[in-house]
Amino acid sequence: IRYESAQFLISAAKLSQCPPETGYEVAFAGRSNAGKSSAINTLTHNKKLARTSKTPGRTQLLNFFDLGNSRFLVDLPGYGYAKVPAHMKIQWQKHMEEYLSERQSLRGLVLVMDCRHPLQNFDIMMLEWATESDMPLHIIMTKSDKLKKGPASKQLLMVKKELQQYGENVTVQLFSSLKRDGLTILKNTLNSWLAE
Ligand code: GDP
Repeated sequence: IRYESAQFLISAAKLSQCPPETGYEVAFAGRSNAGKSSAINTLTHNKKLARTSKTPGRTQLLNFFDLGNSRFLVDLPGYGYAKVPAHMKIQWQKHMEEYLSERQSLRGLVLVMDCRHPLQNFDIMMLEWATESDMPLHIIMTKSDKLKKGPASKQLLMVKKELQQYGENVTVQLFSSLKRDGLTILKNTLNSWLAE
């Protein structure tokens, strides 16, 4: 799969506005500021893509990117923007749950966490949804360049230990958009999900 050829396709406010479920897709989720946009940019070698998702008015939407051959990346709305009113957070949660539980073409979920602040409430919520719905989930602990090798490995081990309770469908790696570290592992994971 040529992630570099990703093209913005459409924004959807809810499940009914998503493209037809004919192909396979992988969705990226994360708390705002975790590094989700940077990770998508790194994966696709395209700085403009995730900027699309940060356009005002699109931050609450599911943004679809076409990879060709009926394969798609989905940038899910960042969670935890301080200025979002409570009723919109509830809406967001409803749409997200609906998308995750009902979307037939969804093959896996990438959860983006800042490696220095892993497993926050939102992350646990995503883990529980993924486990309940048997959805493979791959965690990228990003901004790994902000830690030295030792502390980074320690964080990874700690998270791995915490993840044991969620079973074998959950995997985790360190990642750095700045250094492009961990890109091959990420691509291999997505390739396996998006393969026929
Ligand atoms: P998003 O809100 O999850 O989409 O987060 P962004 O991708 O916009 O990143 C939030 C901030 O973290 C920005 O200032 C990025 O430059 C920075 N950032 C993201 N990924 C990395 C990384 O791998 N290394 C470093 N050093 N900074 C990063």
